[in-house]
Amino acid sequence: MRLYADYNATAPMRDCAKLAFMEAIELAGNASSLHSEGRKARGLLENARRVVAESFAIRPDNVYFTAGATESANWALLPAFTLQKQAPTHLIYSAGEHPAIQEGHGFINKTQIGLLPSGVIDVAALEAALKANSRAMVAVQAANNETGVIQPVSHIALLCNQYEAIFVCDAVQAVGKMPLLNLTGADVLLISAHKFGGAKGVGAMLVSSPRVELCASHMKGGGQEARRRSGTENVAGIHAMGVALAQALNDNFTPIRDIFEKALDKKLTILGQNMPRLSNTTCLLLEGISAETALIKLDLMGAAVSSGSACSSGKIATSSTLKAMGYEGAQALRVSWGHGSTSDEAQKLANLVNRLLI
Ligand code: PLP
Repeated sequence: MRLYADYNATAPMRDCAKLAFMEAIELAGNASSLHSEGRKARGLLENARRVVAESFAIRPDNVYFTAGATESANWALLPAFTLQKQAPTHLIYSAGEHPAIQEGHGFINKTQIGLLPSGVIDVAALEAALKANSRAMVAVQAANNETGVIQPVSHIALLCNQYEAIFVCDAVQAVGKMPLLNLTGADVLLISAHKFGGAKGVGAMLVSSPRVELCASHMKGGGQEARRRSGTENVAGIHAMGVALAQALNDNFTPIRDIFEKALDKKLTILGQNMPRLSNTTCLLLEGISAETALIKLDLMGAAVSSGSACSSGKIATSSTLKAMGYEGAQALRVSWGHGSTSDEAQKLANLVNRLLI
Protein backbone atom coordinates (compact mmCIF):
# COMPACT_ATOMS: atom_id res chain seq x y z
CA MET A 1 0.00 0.00 0.00
CA ARG A 2 1.34 3.44 -0.91
CA LEU A 3 1.69 6.10 1.77
CA TYR A 4 0.84 9.62 0.56
CA ALA A 5 2.24 12.51 2.63
CA ASP A 6 2.44 15.31 0.07
CA TYR A 7 -0.83 17.13 0.71
CA ASN A 8 0.77 20.57 0.41
CA ALA A 9 1.51 19.77 -3.24
CA THR A 10 -2.02 18.54 -3.82
CA ALA A 11 -4.64 16.58 -1.91
CA PRO A 12 -6.59 13.66 -3.30
CA MET A 13 -10.21 14.63 -3.92
CA ARG A 14 -12.47 13.98 -0.93
CA ASP A 15 -15.24 11.42 -1.46
CA CYS A 16 -17.88 14.09 -0.78
CA ALA A 17 -16.25 16.35 -3.40
CA LYS A 18 -16.16 13.54 -5.95
CA LEU A 19 -19.88 12.93 -5.41
CA ALA A 20 -20.63 16.64 -5.71
CA PHE A 21 -18.54 16.86 -8.88
CA MET A 22 -20.39 13.91 -10.44
CA GLU A 23 -23.75 15.37 -9.42
CA ALA A 24 -22.93 18.70 -11.05
CA ILE A 25 -21.47 17.20 -14.18
CA GLU A 26 -24.85 15.58 -14.84
CA LEU A 27 -26.41 19.03 -15.12
CA ALA A 28 -26.63 20.19 -18.70
CA GLY A 29 -27.22 23.85 -17.96
CA ASN A 30 -24.96 26.85 -18.32
CA ALA A 31 -25.11 28.87 -15.09
CA SER A 32 -25.90 32.00 -17.13
CA SER A 33 -28.95 30.45 -18.86
CA LEU A 34 -32.43 31.37 -17.70
CA HIS A 35 -34.10 27.98 -18.18
CA SER A 36 -34.47 25.55 -15.34
CA GLU A 37 -31.27 23.59 -16.23
CA GLY A 38 -29.36 26.86 -16.13
CA ARG A 39 -30.97 27.92 -12.87
CA LYS A 40 -30.01 24.59 -11.25
CA ALA A 41 -26.37 25.14 -12.25
CA ARG A 42 -26.59 28.72 -10.94
CA GLY A 43 -27.99 27.38 -7.67
CA LEU A 44 -24.95 25.15 -7.13
CA LEU A 45 -22.62 28.01 -7.97
CA GLU A 46 -24.27 30.45 -5.57
CA ASN A 47 -24.38 27.85 -2.83
CA ALA A 48 -20.62 27.32 -3.17
CA ARG A 49 -20.11 31.10 -3.13
CA ARG A 50 -22.03 31.29 0.14
CA VAL A 51 -19.95 28.48 1.72
CA VAL A 52 -16.68 30.18 0.71
CA ALA A 53 -17.90 33.57 1.94
CA GLU A 54 -19.05 32.22 5.31
CA SER A 55 -15.76 30.38 5.82
CA PHE A 56 -13.85 33.66 5.53
CA ALA A 57 -16.53 35.88 7.12
CA ILE A 58 -17.03 37.99 3.99
CA ARG A 59 -19.99 38.78 1.76
CA PRO A 60 -20.83 36.29 -1.04
CA ASP A 61 -20.63 39.03 -3.68
CA ASN A 62 -16.97 39.45 -2.77
CA VAL A 63 -16.11 35.90 -3.87
CA TYR A 64 -14.87 35.52 -7.47
CA PHE A 65 -14.29 32.04 -8.84
CA THR A 66 -11.14 31.44 -10.89
CA ALA A 67 -9.18 28.57 -12.41
CA GLY A 68 -6.97 28.30 -9.33
CA ALA A 69 -4.71 30.35 -7.11
CA THR A 70 -2.21 31.13 -9.86
CA GLU A 71 -4.94 32.93 -11.79
CA SER A 72 -6.19 34.59 -8.58
CA ALA A 73 -2.66 35.87 -7.87
CA ASN A 74 -2.12 37.10 -11.42
CA TRP A 75 -5.40 39.00 -11.12
CA ALA A 76 -4.94 40.46 -7.66
CA LEU A 77 -1.37 41.55 -8.38
CA LEU A 78 -2.23 43.71 -11.37
CA PRO A 79 -1.35 47.30 -10.53
CA ALA A 80 -4.75 48.28 -12.01
CA PHE A 81 -6.54 45.71 -9.82
CA THR A 82 -8.41 48.30 -7.79
CA LEU A 83 -10.24 51.51 -8.48
CA GLN A 84 -8.31 53.17 -5.67
CA LYS A 85 -7.80 56.88 -6.39
CA GLN A 86 -4.11 56.18 -6.55
CA ALA A 87 -3.37 52.73 -7.94
CA PRO A 88 -0.44 51.00 -6.25
CA THR A 89 2.88 51.44 -8.01
CA HIS A 90 5.11 49.28 -5.84
CA LEU A 91 4.89 45.63 -4.81
CA ILE A 92 6.30 44.50 -1.47
CA TYR A 93 6.41 40.71 -1.04
CA SER A 94 8.11 38.13 1.13
CA ALA A 95 10.95 35.92 -0.05
CA GLY A 96 8.87 32.89 0.89
CA GLU A 97 6.08 33.57 -1.61
CA HIS A 98 5.06 30.94 -4.15
CA PRO A 99 6.11 31.57 -7.79
CA ALA A 100 2.45 32.41 -8.53
CA ILE A 101 3.15 35.61 -6.57
CA GLN A 102 6.84 36.18 -7.31
CA GLU A 103 6.39 35.65 -11.06
CA GLY A 104 2.69 36.39 -11.41
CA HIS A 105 2.58 40.13 -10.69
CA GLY A 106 2.49 43.07 -13.05
CA PHE A 107 4.68 45.53 -11.13
CA ILE A 108 7.92 47.06 -12.35
CA ASN A 109 8.92 48.42 -8.95
CA LYS A 110 9.18 45.85 -6.20
CA THR A 111 10.88 45.10 -2.91
CA GLN A 112 11.49 41.61 -1.58
CA ILE A 113 11.41 41.25 2.20
CA GLY A 114 13.57 38.57 3.79
CA LEU A 115 12.57 35.89 6.27
CA LEU A 116 14.10 35.45 9.71
CA PRO A 117 15.84 32.10 10.41
CA SER A 118 12.58 31.00 12.06
CA GLY A 119 10.79 31.32 8.70
CA VAL A 120 8.74 34.35 9.78
CA ILE A 121 8.82 37.50 7.64
CA ASP A 122 11.10 40.31 8.84
CA VAL A 123 8.29 42.64 9.97
CA ALA A 124 10.68 45.53 10.72
CA ALA A 125 11.98 45.40 7.12
CA LEU A 126 8.39 45.25 5.87
CA GLU A 127 7.50 48.36 7.84
CA ALA A 128 10.58 50.18 6.53
CA ALA A 129 9.55 49.31 2.96
CA LEU A 130 6.01 50.55 3.63
CA LYS A 131 7.41 53.82 4.99
CA ALA A 132 9.59 54.26 1.91
CA ASN A 133 6.87 53.45 -0.65
CA SER A 134 3.63 55.31 -0.18
CA ARG A 135 1.58 53.55 -2.91
CA ALA A 136 2.25 49.91 -2.14
CA MET A 137 0.59 46.57 -2.58
CA VAL A 138 1.81 43.96 -0.10
CA ALA A 139 1.78 40.22 -0.82
CA VAL A 140 2.48 37.92 2.12
CA GLN A 141 1.22 34.36 2.41
CA ALA A 142 -0.79 33.07 5.36
CA ALA A 143 1.58 30.15 5.76
CA ASN A 144 4.54 28.78 3.87
CA ASN A 145 4.02 25.73 1.66
CA GLU A 146 7.48 24.30 2.49
CA THR A 147 7.95 24.92 6.21
CA GLY A 148 4.32 25.44 7.23
CA VAL A 149 5.39 28.51 9.24
CA ILE A 150 2.41 30.83 9.77
CA GLN A 151 2.95 34.53 9.06
CA PRO A 152 1.69 37.28 11.41
CA VAL A 153 -1.23 38.22 9.15
CA SER A 154 -3.08 40.41 11.69
CA HIS A 155 0.05 42.44 12.42
CA ILE A 156 0.79 42.86 8.70
CA ALA A 157 -2.84 43.89 8.12
CA LEU A 158 -2.52 46.61 10.78
CA LEU A 159 0.67 47.93 9.18
CA CYS A 160 -0.94 47.93 5.72
CA ASN A 161 -3.88 49.83 7.13
CA GLN A 162 -1.58 52.34 8.79
CA TYR A 163 0.42 52.95 5.58
CA GLU A 164 -2.64 52.68 3.30
CA ALA A 165 -1.26 49.72 1.38
CA ILE A 166 -3.40 46.94 -0.07
CA PHE A 167 -2.68 43.56 1.51
CA VAL A 168 -3.00 40.47 -0.70
CA CYS A 169 -2.70 37.27 1.31
CA ASP A 170 -2.07 33.91 -0.37
CA ALA A 171 -4.20 31.65 1.82
CA VAL A 172 -3.71 28.57 -0.34
CA GLN A 173 -2.04 26.48 2.36
CA ALA A 174 -4.22 27.76 5.19
CA VAL A 175 -7.54 26.03 4.51
CA GLY A 176 -8.18 23.20 6.96
CA LYS A 177 -4.75 23.65 8.54
CA MET A 178 -5.16 26.85 10.59
CA PRO A 179 -8.05 29.08 11.75
CA LEU A 180 -9.26 31.10 8.77
CA LEU A 181 -10.65 33.91 10.88
CA ASN A 182 -7.02 34.90 11.65
CA LEU A 183 -6.90 36.09 8.04
CA THR A 184 -9.80 38.51 8.07
CA GLY A 185 -7.50 41.57 8.28
CA ALA A 186 -6.14 41.00 4.77
CA ASP A 187 -7.81 42.95 1.94
CA VAL A 188 -7.64 40.16 -0.63
CA LEU A 189 -7.34 36.39 -0.14
CA LEU A 190 -6.43 33.68 -2.65
CA ILE A 191 -7.49 30.04 -2.37
CA SER A 192 -7.15 26.86 -4.42
CA ALA A 193 -9.54 23.89 -4.27
CA HIS A 194 -7.05 21.10 -4.91
CA LYS A 195 -5.13 21.87 -1.72
CA PHE A 196 -8.07 20.90 0.47
CA GLY A 197 -9.64 18.01 -1.40
CA GLY A 198 -11.50 19.72 -4.23
CA ALA A 199 -10.70 19.41 -7.93
CA LYS A 200 -7.57 20.77 -9.57
CA GLY A 201 -7.90 23.92 -11.66
CA VAL A 202 -10.48 25.70 -9.47
CA GLY A 203 -10.00 28.48 -6.96
CA ALA A 204 -11.19 31.88 -5.88
CA MET A 205 -10.13 35.43 -5.28
CA LEU A 206 -11.82 36.96 -2.24
CA VAL A 207 -12.09 40.65 -1.51
CA SER A 208 -12.42 40.97 2.23
CA SER A 209 -12.14 44.71 2.66
CA PRO A 210 -14.28 47.72 1.68
CA ARG A 211 -10.99 49.51 0.93
CA VAL A 212 -10.71 47.53 -2.30
CA GLU A 213 -13.03 48.42 -5.13
CA LEU A 214 -12.36 46.10 -8.06
CA CYS A 215 -11.43 47.53 -11.45
CA ALA A 216 -13.77 46.80 -14.33
CA SER A 217 -12.59 43.46 -15.60
CA HIS A 218 -9.93 40.84 -15.25
CA MET A 219 -10.75 38.55 -18.17
CA LYS A 220 -12.93 40.15 -20.81
CA GLY A 221 -15.68 38.26 -22.60
CA GLY A 222 -19.16 37.15 -21.64
CA GLY A 223 -19.22 39.10 -18.38
CA GLN A 224 -19.54 36.26 -15.87
CA GLU A 225 -18.67 36.75 -12.18
CA ALA A 226 -20.36 40.16 -11.97
CA ARG A 227 -18.54 41.26 -15.15
CA ARG A 228 -15.17 40.87 -13.42
CA ARG A 229 -14.03 37.48 -14.68
CA SER A 230 -15.45 36.28 -17.97
CA GLY A 231 -15.66 32.65 -19.02
CA THR A 232 -18.33 29.98 -18.50
CA GLU A 233 -18.09 28.90 -14.88
CA ASN A 234 -16.69 25.47 -13.98
CA VAL A 235 -19.87 24.50 -12.12
CA ALA A 236 -18.75 20.96 -11.20
CA GLY A 237 -15.38 22.12 -9.90
CA ILE A 238 -16.86 25.04 -7.99
CA HIS A 239 -19.64 22.93 -6.44
CA ALA A 240 -17.06 20.30 -5.39
CA MET A 241 -14.86 23.06 -3.93
CA GLY A 242 -17.71 24.31 -1.73
CA VAL A 243 -18.43 20.80 -0.46
CA ALA A 244 -14.71 20.07 0.15
CA LEU A 245 -14.26 23.38 1.96
CA ALA A 246 -17.19 22.74 4.31
CA GLN A 247 -15.60 19.43 5.30
CA ALA A 248 -12.04 20.82 5.47
CA LEU A 249 -13.07 23.32 8.13
CA ASN A 250 -13.40 20.40 10.57
CA ASP A 251 -9.91 19.04 9.89
CA ASN A 252 -7.22 18.82 12.56
CA PHE A 253 -3.98 17.14 11.61
CA THR A 254 -2.00 18.06 14.73
CA PRO A 255 -2.34 14.59 16.37
CA ILE A 256 -0.96 12.86 13.25
CA ARG A 257 1.88 15.33 12.84
CA ASP A 258 2.72 14.99 16.54
CA ILE A 259 2.95 11.20 16.27
CA PHE A 260 5.26 11.63 13.28
CA GLU A 261 7.51 14.23 14.89
CA LYS A 262 7.72 12.44 18.25
CA ALA A 263 8.80 9.24 16.49
CA LEU A 264 11.53 11.00 14.53
CA ASP A 265 15.13 10.61 15.65
CA LYS A 266 16.08 13.57 17.85
CA LYS A 267 19.17 14.25 15.71
CA LEU A 268 16.93 15.49 12.88
CA THR A 269 16.27 19.24 12.57
CA ILE A 270 12.71 20.42 11.96
CA LEU A 271 12.66 23.87 10.36
CA GLY A 272 10.46 26.44 12.09
CA GLN A 273 9.73 23.88 14.82
CA ASN A 274 9.04 26.39 17.58
CA MET A 275 7.01 28.78 15.48
CA PRO A 276 3.26 28.72 14.88
CA ARG A 277 3.01 26.19 12.06
CA LEU A 278 0.33 24.58 9.91
CA SER A 279 -1.12 21.58 11.69
CA ASN A 280 -0.08 19.18 8.92
CA THR A 281 3.47 20.14 7.89
CA THR A 282 6.99 19.04 8.92
CA CYS A 283 10.05 20.30 7.05
CA LEU A 284 13.24 18.34 7.79
CA LEU A 285 16.70 19.70 7.07
CA LEU A 286 18.74 17.18 5.08
CA GLU A 287 22.40 16.53 5.77
CA GLY A 288 24.61 14.20 3.77
CA ILE A 289 21.86 13.30 1.29
CA SER A 290 20.23 15.31 -1.47
CA ALA A 291 16.49 15.88 -1.51
CA GLU A 292 16.27 14.13 -4.86
CA THR A 293 17.97 10.96 -3.53
CA ALA A 294 15.88 11.00 -0.33
CA LEU A 295 12.67 11.37 -2.34
CA ILE A 296 13.52 8.58 -4.74
CA LYS A 297 14.52 6.23 -1.90
CA LEU A 298 11.34 6.96 0.04
CA ASP A 299 9.33 6.54 -3.15
CA LEU A 300 10.87 3.09 -3.65
CA MET A 301 9.97 2.29 -0.04
CA GLY A 302 6.35 3.20 -0.88
CA ALA A 303 6.09 6.75 0.47
CA ALA A 304 5.33 9.96 -1.47
CA VAL A 305 6.77 13.09 0.16
CA SER A 306 8.28 16.25 -1.27
CA SER A 307 11.39 18.38 -1.22
CA GLY A 308 9.14 21.36 -0.57
CA SER A 309 10.72 23.41 -3.28
CA ALA A 310 9.59 23.93 -6.83
CA CYS A 311 9.96 20.90 -9.04
CA SER A 312 7.48 21.65 -11.79
CA SER A 313 9.98 20.48 -14.40
CA GLY A 314 10.80 17.29 -12.51
CA LYS A 315 14.10 18.75 -11.27
CA ILE A 316 14.41 19.99 -7.70
CA ALA A 317 15.37 23.66 -7.64
CA THR A 318 17.03 25.50 -4.77
CA SER A 319 14.32 26.66 -2.39
CA SER A 320 14.00 30.44 -2.13
CA THR A 321 12.34 29.96 1.27
CA LEU A 322 15.26 28.02 2.73
CA LYS A 323 17.71 30.50 1.22
CA ALA A 324 15.79 33.41 2.75
CA MET A 325 15.89 31.67 6.15
CA GLY A 326 19.68 31.57 5.92
CA TYR A 327 20.00 27.95 4.79
CA GLU A 328 21.88 28.78 1.60
CA GLY A 329 22.41 25.64 -0.50
CA ALA A 330 20.52 23.46 2.00
CA GLN A 331 17.92 20.90 1.03
CA ALA A 332 14.90 19.72 2.91
CA LEU A 333 12.27 17.04 2.99
CA ARG A 334 8.66 18.11 3.40
CA VAL A 335 6.08 15.82 4.91
CA SER A 336 2.49 17.08 4.73
CA TRP A 337 -0.52 15.17 6.02
CA GLY A 338 -4.18 15.48 5.06
CA HIS A 339 -7.70 14.13 5.25
CA GLY A 340 -6.75 10.59 4.22
CA SER A 341 -3.76 10.26 6.59
CA THR A 342 -3.67 7.90 9.58
CA SER A 343 -1.65 7.57 12.81
CA ASP A 344 -0.21 4.28 11.53
CA GLU A 345 1.09 6.04 8.45
CA ALA A 346 2.70 8.73 10.61
CA GLN A 347 4.51 6.09 12.67
CA LYS A 348 5.50 4.10 9.59
CA LEU A 349 6.87 7.13 7.73
CA ALA A 350 8.89 8.24 10.78
CA ASN A 351 10.52 4.78 10.87
CA LEU A 352 11.36 4.99 7.17
CA VAL A 353 12.77 8.51 7.53
CA ASN A 354 14.89 7.51 10.56
CA ARG A 355 16.22 4.51 8.65
CA LEU A 356 17.09 6.68 5.65
CA LEU A 357 18.50 9.79 7.31
CA ILE A 358 20.24 8.58 10.48
N1 PLP B 1 0.29 29.56 -3.51
C1 PLP B 1 0.77 28.53 -2.78
C2 PLP B 1 1.28 28.81 -1.39
C3 PLP B 1 0.78 27.23 -3.28
O1 PLP B 1 1.27 26.23 -2.53
C4 PLP B 1 0.29 27.01 -4.60
C5 PLP B 1 0.31 25.64 -5.18
O2 PLP B 1 1.30 24.96 -5.15
C6 PLP B 1 -0.20 28.10 -5.33
C7 PLP B 1 -0.18 29.35 -4.76
C8 PLP B 1 -0.75 27.94 -6.73
O3 PLP B 1 -2.02 27.33 -6.69
P1 PLP B 1 -2.70 26.66 -7.98
O4 PLP B 1 -2.12 25.29 -8.09
O5 PLP B 1 -4.16 26.63 -7.68
O6 PLP B 1 -2.42 27.52 -9.16
